[in-house]
Amino acid sequence: MLSGLDPSGGAGIQADIQAITALGCHPLPILTCLTVQDTCNVYDASAVDADLIRRQLDRVAADAPIHAIKTGALGNAEVVDVLVEFLHRNADIPVITDPVIKAAGGGDLADAALIQAMKEHLFSCAEMITPNGIELAMLGDSDDPAEAAQRLMAAGCQSVLATGGHGEGPQITNTLFTHHADPLQWQIERVGGEYHGTGCTLAAAIAAGRAAGLSQRAAISQAQNFVNHAILHALEVGRGQPVPDRGIPWER
Ligand code: PLP
Repeated sequence: MLSGLDPSGGAGIQADIQAITALGCHPLPILTCLTVQDTCNVYDASAVDADLIRRQLDRVAADAPIHAIKTGALGNAEVVDVLVEFLHRNADIPVITDPVIKAAGGGDLADAALIQAMKEHLFSCAEMITPNGIELAMLGDSDDPAEAAQRLMAAGCQSVLATGGHGEGPQITNTLFTHHADPLQWQIERVGGEYHGTGCTLAAAIAAGRAAGLSQRAAISQAQNFVNHAILHALEVGRGQPVPDRGIPWER
């Protein structure tokens, strides 16, 4: 996966490594940016050199089979360009893209050039993007999730999993929009509260399921159950949002 470092250990690369490991896969972690962050918010971020990332991708891919790729915070537009160029050369790998724009506390994790590069070049390489409600409205330019998802798919997205964790009500509704079928919905009981790194955990868990050979639907179902379990055991790490415990034993 490609994601950023959150030194509070809630989101980003640590979330990905823990989720992917818990689901029985071996992560190949490529760090895209370093953030200044605690459990309350993101205060700053600095991208890793894109050429270093290109060389890491090429080395790792030449050495080991890659069964799925999860992308999270990507640092800057140059990193997206390097990744897209790699994906064009490796088009058979399923890519799950969490289009990270802002931290839950409101801090920015993407500038306008990065958002444009994701929309114009990366999304069409991904088999699924997993925006939360805020990201979906921004990326699809509409407050109506179905309309926003349709716009993104018209622009080249293969499928959009609109996540409802940031909404309200006793149930979380996640909706998968695809070109081929009516939208598919999952309802999960809402635990309540805001947690740090749930979007990262969900997308990484979906990628792990795909890497293990599950269908998209089965990978989404498994990932939702995994996130729910981790939230039920969330850790009070700092003064801000609790961190889902991805290390707690979990039965698949
Ligand atoms: N990646 C990094 C490095 C982050 O710091 C954050 C948020 O703080 C995210 C991704 C997004 O986290 P999520 O979408 O899980 O809330």
